[in-house]
Amino acid sequence: MTAALQQPASHREGAPDTSRAAPASNFLRTIIADDNRQGTYGGRVVTRFPPEPNGYLHYGHAKSISLNFGLAAENGGTCHLRFDDTNPLKEDVEFEDSIAAAVRWLGYDWGQYRYHASDYYDDLYRFAEWFITNGLAYVDSQTAEEMRATRGTLTEPGVASAYRERSVAENLDLFRRMRAGEFPDGAHVLRLKIDMGSPNVNLRDPAIYRIRHASHHRTGDKWCIYPLYDYTHAISDALERITHSICTLEFQDHRPLYDWVIEKLADGGQLERPLPQQYEFARLNLTYVVLSKRRLIELVEQRFVDGWDDPRMPTLVGARRRGFTPEGFQLFADRIGVSKSDSWIDMSVLEDAMRDDLNARAPRRIAVLDPLKLVIDNFPEGKIDEALAPNHPQRPELGRRPLPLTRELWIERDDFQEHPQKGYFRLAPGAEVRLRYAFIVKCTGVDKDAAGKITTVHCTFDPDTRSGTPGADSRKVKGNIHWLSAAQAVPAEVRLYDRLFRVPFPGAREPWGGRGEPGAGVPGHAPVVAGDDDSGADVMERNYLDDLNPDSKKVIRAFVEPALAEAAPEDRFQFERHGYFVADLADHKPGAPVFNRSVTLRDSWTKGGDK
Ligand code: ATP
Ligand code: MG
Repeated sequence: MTAALQQPASHREGAPDTSRAAPASNFLRTIIADDNRQGTYGGRVVTRFPPEPNGYLHYGHAKSISLNFGLAAENGGTCHLRFDDTNPLKEDVEFEDSIAAAVRWLGYDWGQYRYHASDYYDDLYRFAEWFITNGLAYVDSQTAEEMRATRGTLTEPGVASAYRERSVAENLDLFRRMRAGEFPDGAHVLRLKIDMGSPNVNLRDPAIYRIRHASHHRTGDKWCIYPLYDYTHAISDALERITHSICTLEFQDHRPLYDWVIEKLADGGQLERPLPQQYEFARLNLTYVVLSKRRLIELVEQRFVDGWDDPRMPTLVGARRRGFTPEGFQLFADRIGVSKSDSWIDMSVLEDAMRDDLNARAPRRIAVLDPLKLVIDNFPEGKIDEALAPNHPQRPELGRRPLPLTRELWIERDDFQEHPQKGYFRLAPGAEVRLRYAFIVKCTGVDKDAAGKITTVHCTFDPDTRSGTPGADSRKVKGNIHWLSAAQAVPAEVRLYDRLFRVPFPGAREPWGGRGEPGAGVPGHAPVVAGDDDSGADVMERNYLDDLNPDSKKVIRAFVEPALAEAAPEDRFQFERHGYFVADLADHKPGAPVFNRSVTLRDSWTKGGDK
């Protein structure tokens, strides 16, 4: 399947749209509105977010979270947080805590509705016996290979197991002995008896219980048989009286099984109606990252990144440390919408959402990232003047702060050119620029070291051009550069983060998405396996690790304005002319500031950028 690269309509013109007032309608909103109108669920709206606690949440989960919690909230309903913990081998409380914290960070609250699939193990077992008793399930003793071999294909029906016609009594006996621990892993499975000839492979007598002698992080050694995903999920939804069970597209072909399980139980008086209804939406596919858990684990374990919360990781813990905002994720979710067909979203859409959110809220500060000394020769030595800089150009109510102004300053090395190229309007011998919020200076010369490298730029200032005074505009200059007092600036570690991969489709044969038509050559979706498959098997044509961006992290020593020494971890700022930065959650300390770049001021990746 090939999917087009999608730019949301609101964004095609590059028009920032920070309004969140009226989110666009989508097919799920329509369905819920219809159900409410028809009284399908008596006006109840109950959704759930069902993560498996086997890893950290990623950007894709943010879409699912905002959808499930958002739809519930806008309908006065509830959204359950349910840990889908059916696989004892990979799950852990550490992941549960981090998942809960990430959902909360995004601004959502499950209230008292925090559940685990393992809460239902007794019910699931009881229902399994009910299925057996009603001739709807049997213990199969074929090997895993035999079962695979007799499953049939998309065009050929499956072949019934020789054990399919076991008596109810024999099935019950075997199933109880499975539970009692009499058999080794793999000796038997419990299968639903549906239809080996069904065109839908998921209905060909799916396994619902397997033997696994393993401790579970919540139920300990109580169980040595564990229910499988589809069975568990449908029943968990029904027990929690979920109304709209929203999942990603790969579960579409599983829906008939979902319905079969809960319909049978409801017919048998085991579950209450109305039953939940499953709906599928397109998962988030984002360029320049990988979202598969397996790949993320690989990146962490092989130390291509500095842990799960590395700001380059597409995890929510990483996003937080990068300085991305929950509101930015919400804006992103609103802009990309929800659809029923797969597509790719360009990373710039997420970055723009963060930029737009940060632009509105982040106070402005000054940082000099690549310092070069500027000496104002006609400025009195030892004098400390002050320039007033607005905290936010569009929000005067946030006030201004003083920037100490002294004879020796730091400016950016690239704000000076000894031999200016055409169209260069910043500092050069004989040229004039405005020092932001201060006055116009004229470059009078440079000092060089023995190797010919410029160590100091000299200039003189014109006191009549002081910003905010009547004479400020008497002379026009094109360049306007930022600066810091060399005596007062505070040294800081600054981490310049960029995209983790240097290509849109890491691992694809045509990692740039091919040429020609928009969307042409965009790789098809790696098959996503629904449900229990632990491997998260996806196929890549090349090694995605070859596509890592070698420049995704640069650590530099920079200078920041004195006010930034007071920043608290996670305070976010715009460093003028550089981008949005956040005081690092873990490493930023008073007296030893550390800032992470969240996103640059402008997109330098898409066509027309200067990268
Ligand atoms: P991965 O495929 O990365 O391993 P997963 O689907 O196994 O993720 P779960 O913990 O099972 O991870 O996911 C919890 C919920 O989040 C599910 O409802 C799933 O459909 C949804 N989800 C997972 N990935 C995405 C995505 N890329 N976009 C939208 N929703 C997603
Ligand atoms: Mg999953």
